[in-house]
Amino acid sequence: MANILDGKALAARLREELMTEAQAFIEATGHVPTIAMLRAGDDPALLSHARSVRRSFEKAGFGFQEHELPADCSQADLSAKLAELNADPHVHGILIQEPLPNHIDEDALILALDPRKDVDGVHPLNAGLLQQQRGRYHVSSTPLGGIAILDAYNIDVKGKRAVVIGRSNIVGKPMALLLLHRHATVTIAHSRTQNLAALCREADIVCAAVGRAGLVTRDFIKPGAVVIDFGINFVDGKLVGDVAFDEVAEVAGWITPVPGGTGPVTSVMLLRNTLNAAKWLLETSS
Ligand code: NDP
Repeated sequence: MANILDGKALAARLREELMTEAQAFIEATGHVPTIAMLRAGDDPALLSHARSVRRSFEKAGFGFQEHELPADCSQADLSAKLAELNADPHVHGILIQEPLPNHIDEDALILALDPRKDVDGVHPLNAGLLQQQRGRYHVSSTPLGGIAILDAYNIDVKGKRAVVIGRSNIVGKPMALLLLHRHATVTIAHSRTQNLAALCREADIVCAAVGRAGLVTRDFIKPGAVVIDFGINFVDGKLVGDVAFDEVAEVAGWITPVPGGTGPVTSVMLLRNTLNAAKWLLETSS
């Protein structure tokens, strides 16, 4: 039976450490690290995500703002709001919630983000610097959380074969890069990948970032492999990951549960990114 990678317990520890660091920052600078979430429309999934970020930020004593424009707002309205948030010295992190309405040019908004406030790591400057491992940049909190879990359990990925299933800019690709930078041999799989189970079966580390309940089954997993499940799916009102947990846990060496795996660590990493953003802004503002 696999060892459980307990993200909930890790998140509690990391949160404590972060709050000590944040407290010292607040006392030294008078700045309370603050995030602003920007969305167009009131889609329930967007509201639910904002609620959970609000809870996490308020619990940590960080600042939280929500800015909702109507779903039929114009590109200019959203751009103006984003410019306002970019310029506001009391806002350190900005999350543009997706999906945006079809008539909105998402690329234009992302390019307009101040990269120092881009706590999701979606601006091409951050993504490019991550890819090249140069200078200072933000990395999306979900893959950062995945790496934090591996670190906490002293799982060394150097020289190991890793398969990341999913190639989004926010989870799959940055996770693959972070593993690569730690000297894993990485394959990125996606919806057109052939023989996915056989590919995964060769891996020492399998990361699932897809959004399909039960996609990763027992036959995907080499005995003893590490399984990191980023998936968030609701089946009959119950939260489940992309991994068929019960059967995979019988063969894997290590596995993140859902809930209680990558999710709670992601929340702490968003706090971490917001504190980093606040430091970055203060150090570079004249
Ligand atoms: P996206 O929908 O942007 O990307 C999903 C990826 O999965 C795509 O690359 C897609 O391939 C691939 N895919 C889809 N179907 C298959 C399949 N049958 N076989 C192999 N690959 C497939 O999702 P995100 O990256 O934003 O999120 C992924 C999951 O992670 C979701 O469940 C999301 O809710 C969750 N998530 C979890 C977080 C956490 O804290 N744990 C935070 C953020 C997201 P293609 O590119 O070819 O379309």
